Amino acid sequence: MARHSTRQRAPKATIPARRPPAQSPSLADPVIWLPGCGPAVAEKLTRLEIASIYDVLTHYPRAYYMRRSIAKLKHGEVQAIQGQVINVGEKTTRGRRMRVTEVIVEEDQAQIALVFFNQPWIVRRLREGQWISAIGIVEFAFGEFTLKPTSWTILRNPEVGDGKERLLPEYPLTEGLTNHVVAALTRAALTSHGELLSIVLPEALTKELKLMPEREALREVHFPSSEAHLNAAKLALKFREFFLLCAGLALRHERTRKDDGELVFKITDHLRSRCDARFPFKFTKAQERVIGEISRDLASPGRMNRLLQGDVGCGKTAVALYAMLLAVGSNYQTALIAPTEILARQHDQSIRNYLKDSRVKIELLTGSTPKPEREKLLASLASGETHIIVGTHALLEPAVRFNKLGLIVIDEQHKFGVRQREQLAIKGNRPHRLAMSATPIPRTLSLTLYGDLDISIIDEMPPGRTPVKTSWIPESAREKTFAAIHEKLKQGQQAYLIYPLVKPNPELELKSASELHAALKSRFADIGVALVHGQLSADDKDAAMARFTRGQAKLLVATVVVEVGVDVPAANIMVIEHAERFGLAQLHQLRGRIGRGSEQSFLYLFAEPATDTARERLEILCRTTDGFEIAEADMRLRGYGDFIGTRQAGMPKLKIGDPVTDLKILARARKEAFARIESCDREALKEALTLEFGKAFRLVDA
Ligand code: ADP
Ligand code: MG
Repeated sequence: MARHSTRQRAPKATIPARRPPAQSPSLADPVIWLPGCGPAVAEKLTRLEIASIYDVLTHYPRAYYMRRSIAKLKHGEVQAIQGQVINVGEKTTRGRRMRVTEVIVEEDQAQIALVFFNQPWIVRRLREGQWISAIGIVEFAFGEFTLKPTSWTILRNPEVGDGKERLLPEYPLTEGLTNHVVAALTRAALTSHGELLSIVLPEALTKELKLMPEREALREVHFPSSEAHLNAAKLALKFREFFLLCAGLALRHERTRKDDGELVFKITDHLRSRCDARFPFKFTKAQERVIGEISRDLASPGRMNRLLQGDVGCGKTAVALYAMLLAVGSNYQTALIAPTEILARQHDQSIRNYLKDSRVKIELLTGSTPKPEREKLLASLASGETHIIVGTHALLEPAVRFNKLGLIVIDEQHKFGVRQREQLAIKGNRPHRLAMSATPIPRTLSLTLYGDLDISIIDEMPPGRTPVKTSWIPESAREKTFAAIHEKLKQGQQAYLIYPLVKPNPELELKSASELHAALKSRFADIGVALVHGQLSADDKDAAMARFTRGQAKLLVATVVVEVGVDVPAANIMVIEHAERFGLAQLHQLRGRIGRGSEQSFLYLFAEPATDTARERLEILCRTTDGFEIAEADMRLRGYGDFIGTRQAGMPKLKIGDPVTDLKILARARKEAFARIESCDREALKEALTLEFGKAFRLVDA
């Protein structure tokens, strides 16, 4: 019998079926308080991330169609009709054995035939005399109008006789929810709550830019009175959304600057030269610049909140360690947190190397630190005896206390979960923060969206690196390529083989990983093959990695990409199977594992891209090694929404604006938001920010 379960069920919130009479309406009201929304509909709406009435109002149409009376339909356009069913018939086409259902619909004595293929159940659903509406492309031939509905619904309350032409919204939907229902809810929400939308834009700005007033825009975007009104409404709402986002960033920027003025490091020339002496190389120009930016932050009032971006191997960790040494030299403690144990161990090892024979006390804390050791370590941390602690999320536990934490460095911040990031944010007495990311964000985007984070970019590799040569190998050249690789491995070189698994099924993974291993083991028997896959225990994984790191195995086969956090400078060949299954950013990151020495490195991609986009991705990778250029291309190819979905770097989700296609609107809104923050209605801003970005904002905030 399980004494406790690890997964706690969230208590089901009990929402009353309607608003308590004493409570005044608010945009945060649950959607279930709208007339026409029962528990079943509310449940389905949650799948669209709609919980509040505000969510309904900002669930924007994805398209529009023209409502026309049947008598006025036009050939070749997507239109909506409504009318009464006067006949339902069925036939089977001769040649191809398709069942065709034909429904004749009439309005004001004009008729149209709705045609459905292979949906025989429609016969049972429809009865003569019922009112229905349907959307689809209308065709005219032989004196008859036909329409193949892409969506249709039975109308309980038809707007009989209203044949007026107008644009109607088509909403993103989910199974079991019709466009008709969503449109009706939106209409109801506009009526009861539309005037509660807070007015965010200063009046002078709305006037100056001739923007449609915000509340009017909200109505018009759902039920436009004309195409021109629709366009004006979209522009106003996009502007509002970007403005709101940037105003939020501006507010927070203001706040972090004012906070914690006492956290000022004393950075003397003497300290600087002692730090410099720890590095066996000369920093690159880019590193020097970034060290300058960081030092200025640390030495001036206000808490640093900086994001350090740069490709794998560009020397971010070295720069971070420099900052950590500045903290230690200023009598503060400092922590470095990495998302995996392997990474934490590597950081620990490399920091120890840099600091050999120094008096700086370094400790490593991970989930597998034995208990007695952990106790000792915690005590030494709390007393201030330990200067630098490296670890995983084990560092976030409440038992971990610092004496005087001055700087926290977070490696690959986006790999931490939301909860963990919140914990990170509250650790210590609000220390300086430096986040590192090897997943570059397009410059245009980071400069516009990260208004509150300061950004440092290392866009230069340490000298002596030769960019990786990337080629996309046709299947016909597979044997030849593997034979060539085999030769190189026999001569002592090392290679990675990355193999994605199709199904995230542990048993399947095990099977295909072991099959792969067996095949490769016999083929490369003379050079040693190590295998890492998701089903291995941590010990076995470490053992396999160690064999590769020590050069006992020349080929490392990895089916779990995340775990390939190894730094083996001798490995300069990588093969990626089914490269089309990886994202561009992921491929680029994988590539960063090689090309660390001065010898020429090679990446071979095996791929069979099914789409032009997939093909273009591979071509970009072959063409450039610049992570920022790759990120721009990735964002362009995917679109913003999908792009941020894969990054989770605290980027806000947007509902109507698209930073890629609406970059001009974004740039203007940002400029205005930062310039006019003083003249904004703070209350209105705060309310709108909470509604719009509530969770996301807490996330980025420290
Ligand atoms: P990142 O964290 O960006 O992946 P690291 O700081 O780990 O990069 O640096 C990668 C490798 O390059 C390390 O072995 C490091 O010692 C070395 N390195 C860093 N900066 C320089 C430099 N300026 N000159 C030469 N080698 C450097
Ligand atoms: Mg690194």
